[in-house]
Amino acid sequence: MQKVAILYDASQAVLSTFELDEVLLQILGIVRDYFHLQSAAILLVDDQHRLYARKHYGSGEIYGEDVRLPIGQGITGIAAQKKRPIYVSDVSKDARYVDFVKSTRSELAIPLMVRDEVVGVLDCQSDQLNFFDAETIDLLTLFSTQASIALENARLYSLEQKRRSQLEAINAIARQTTAVLERDELLRKVCTLILQSFPVDHVVLTLREGEKLVVAAHEGKLTPTIEMGGALPADEGIGGRALATARAAVVNDVAKDPAYIAGFTETKSEMCLPLISFGTQLGVVCLESATTGSFDQTDVQPLESVADIIATAIQNANYFEQAKALANVDGLTGAYNRRFFESKLAEELERASRYGKQLAVVMLDIDHFKRLNDEFGHLLGDEVLRQVSALFRAQLRKLDFVCRYGGEEFVLLLPETSGEDALAVAEKVRRAIEAHAFPGVPRPVTVSIGVAECPTHGLTRDEVVKAADSALYASKQGGRNRVTAASAARTAAAPAND
Ligand code: GH3
Ligand code: MG
Ligand code: MG
Repeated sequence: MQKVAILYDASQAVLSTFELDEVLLQILGIVRDYFHLQSAAILLVDDQHRLYARKHYGSGEIYGEDVRLPIGQGITGIAAQKKRPIYVSDVSKDARYVDFVKSTRSELAIPLMVRDEVVGVLDCQSDQLNFFDAETIDLLTLFSTQASIALENARLYSLEQKRRSQLEAINAIARQTTAVLERDELLRKVCTLILQSFPVDHVVLTLREGEKLVVAAHEGKLTPTIEMGGALPADEGIGGRALATARAAVVNDVAKDPAYIAGFTETKSEMCLPLISFGTQLGVVCLESATTGSFDQTDVQPLESVADIIATAIQNANYFEQAKALANVDGLTGAYNRRFFESKLAEELERASRYGKQLAVVMLDIDHFKRLNDEFGHLLGDEVLRQVSALFRAQLRKLDFVCRYGGEEFVLLLPETSGEDALAVAEKVRRAIEAHAFPGVPRPVTVSIGVAECPTHGLTRDEVVKAADSALYASKQGGRNRVTAASAARTAAAPAND
């Protein structure tokens, strides 16, 4: 009767909670208070099939979590291997005994089983020879089946908890990324969100550019060995493996994987997820951890979902950037359009005044273009416009802007350029056009140019444009195919004869 009472109390206690560590403490509490054992431990099985003590009381010095015992070794290891309790009444006479605690005289190891699988071992030790009688062994064995159920419940519960928080994270990432259309902002946001939602130390996002993966964003506390903009071959490393297989690539000990290419000094384990949208490889997102064995199979599926969401968001941002770019470009010549010019000029004026820099605006108009159209046809006129635009582009720096202002009028925006330098550029452009042989046009095509500089000729958009336009007008008045500076335009604007 007393036995039944003990078992009933024990099962009530161990099943009263779902938290693993609490379940373990309850089990050990029962062992200590009902069975009066001096020392006991619950060993769990790690992912390399070794036993380690998760909780214990009594002779504690042996049970550091770093002590790992392969299944099949020691009394506990053999109990786990044989899947039945092992009792050694005198450990000094048993060769299987691993001599951890000097004072131990007898030991009872009971496997904790869920269905046919060993999940751990209840290890009871005593400093007395032959401490455990048959009745205690039976009762402890019966109790251990209750304990196993409680352990399994705790495991399922923590898995459920993990799933729920992963689902919440996926949902949050989906909600927060679809709202961001600016690409750079999106990439940073993605790194931050993953870092917040998953237990990793660093997140890196690389984008595929040709045969390379270029670091586009990263967030976290590790020390990078590859900086922003740095590149890795797209078919190497763990990232390359993820792209090639179109699946998550997990490495739980980077030292053991020869393919691993170090991106951070402290990385011990890494998971790379391919970013693929409609069959296009956009890049790879890598999760870095400073501890080995950070990733398990339950992380893979949710993170693959996260990667799919990210890939879609990046693709959307790409489309958005393309649409934005198209809205700024003139369809005939490929130069920026007037709308872009207006907003860029405002932006550059603001920047120039903030940093005390200069800025030049160069207005150009093709001479007698109406006549050219009339003589050779509108289609050829269009081709001349295209080629003129390309010639401008070829004469300028990368950071300059070529814009079609309207009809056969163009405007060049030259940031951080003085009026004097702009005049030289304008003259170079004028000569290039004059010297170019336009197919189908048996004579030179020329342009008239006006050059204005900020702040000398104006501080606002209207002032600068008007100054350049007046200078252009002066060039027309002065006989065409020439460059006029805005200040000169003011003094020499008077006589008008073609
Ligand atoms: P000026 O030397 O004074 O600038 O004379 P112009 O003939 O170039 O000046 P005007 O402004 O009188 O004529 C501009 C012509 O440019 C009129 C128009 O038909 C032509 N044009 C405007 N846009 C296009 C276009 O997209 N394609 C073609 N082929 N012609 C265009
Ligand atoms: Mg014109
Ligand atoms: Mg013209």
